[in-house]
Order: sequence, then C-alpha cells, then structure tokens
Amino acid sequence: MGGRESTLVLLDENGIRCDGRKVDEPRRIMIKAGGLKNADGSAYIEFGDNKILVGVFGPRDVHPKHMSNTDTGILRVRYHMEPFSVGERKNPAPSRREIEISKVIKEALLPAVILDKFPRTAVDVFIEVLQADGGTRCAALAAASVALADAGIPMRDMVAACAAGKAADTIILDVNNEEDQAGQADMPVGYMPNLDKITLLQLDGVLSPEEFKKCVKVGVDGCKLVYELQKKALHEKYFQNGGDQ
Ligand code: UDP
Repeated sequence: MGGRESTLVLLDENGIRCDGRKVDEPRRIMIKAGGLKNADGSAYIEFGDNKILVGVFGPRDVHPKHMSNTDTGILRVRYHMEPFSVGERKNPAPSRREIEISKVIKEALLPAVILDKFPRTAVDVFIEVLQADGGTRCAALAAASVALADAGIPMRDMVAACAAGKAADTIILDVNNEEDQAGQADMPVGYMPNLDKITLLQLDGVLSPEEFKKCVKVGVDGCKLVYELQKKALHEKYFQNGGDQ
C-alpha cells in the first residue's frame, strides 16, 4: 500500500481513474441468486473482474460434534481462492490471508443471521473465488448474504459490502486491484442498510480523521447500491423465474 513506485496514473487531470471510472463510481456488479443444485442456497457475483461463487449448507448436523452449541446454531465460513484466480498461481493450501478473510466475513454475517432456533446445528458458507481483482472480501460477503437468504436462513437484514479508499490523495469508491496495490488506503465496509449497522470495517493504509469519516460514508453509500442489486437478485429468482433454479 502506497510505497510502490509506479508509472500508473491512478487519477488523471479530468478526475478519471485508471479503469475509466469516476471517483464515486462502482465497478459493474452482477449478482445471481441460486444456481448450485446440491447446495441449500447459493449465489454468484461478478464485481468488476472478481468472479465468486458461494454455496450455503444447513442448518445441518455438526461434525465434529464437540463444535456444536446446545443453545444455538453456529455459522462456519470458508473463503477459498482458486490457484488460477490470480495472475501468479496461488498455492492451494489455506493461506493466513484466507483464514483472516474467512474470519472477518463470518463476523460480518453473524449480526445478520438468526440461529438460536437451530441449536446443535451448523450453517456452512463456502466461498470460492474463481477470479480475483481487488475487493474479493466485500464481493464475497455480499454474495454470501444472498446465498444465506436463498437457503432460507432467518436474517435480521442482508449485509451489503463495498470498499472505499484513497488514491492520488482522493477518496474513491470501490478500490480495484491496481488502486489497492499502488493507492494510499483500502477500507472494506460491510453494512446492513435496514438496521443502519456496520458489521465489517477494516483499514489498510493511513487516513486523517476527516478522511476516515468521508471514507466510511463513501463505503456505506456503496453498500446501499450493492444492497439494491442483492435484493434484485433474490427478486429475479423468486418472483420472476418461479423459484425453479
Ligand atoms: N491477490 C493476489 N494473490 C494472492 C492474494 C491476493 O494476486 O495470493 C490479489 C487479488 O486480486 C486480491 C487483491 O490482491 O483481490 C487484494 O487482496 P486483499 O488481501 O486486499 O483482499 P481483497 O481486496 O481481495 O478483499
């Protein structure tokens, strides 16, 4: 973040970013609910050049049994990047980064899901990153929320997600891979619009207190856009295609 010398122009004199976007413009986002026959719920998301598939299983018996909780169901999340998802082949073994992202996505989803009606069970969320281009944790979190809703898991709200950040001394919406590598800050935000609650907030980079506030606001506004597309995906599956996917 920030330190790398680069000839890349992150923001030109017309305020246009390296991928042609304006500072407050998200990448193209497409979300589809359903699609995996063997999962209880599933979703697919394209967020710019990120392509991510999520399968949800459960509530179901917990193995190993000692992980179960007699008072409530538990949520388990596995974020996994395919070796071919990035330019330089990724080692298929779980990396520290994947373990961290699995943990933050789980913690971002926990305030949304209502699992106390399903004691001794687990809801498993499997996230497969097929193609990565910066911002996979936000894209994965948004898709996981749709997949949980598709599985019929009771939820207080869906968690929408989008990153904000800073590049060329400017606060930007939806940080891409180049901006993540050469920019000054990356702030992934997860947010439940109906409850007005932030459930994920990370920051890589340095921001002044004013920039921090602006970045959170820009990220939350991005989440509100993503939320509309999450609802649209569920609407398309359940009200336009007769729920037969
Ligand atoms: N990345 C990569 N190889 C890796 C891990 C990540 O090329 O082993 C790229 C990938 O495009 C990812 C980006 O680096 O989206 C930024 O990763 P970060 O850890 O910031 O998480 P993300 O922004 O994807 O949530």
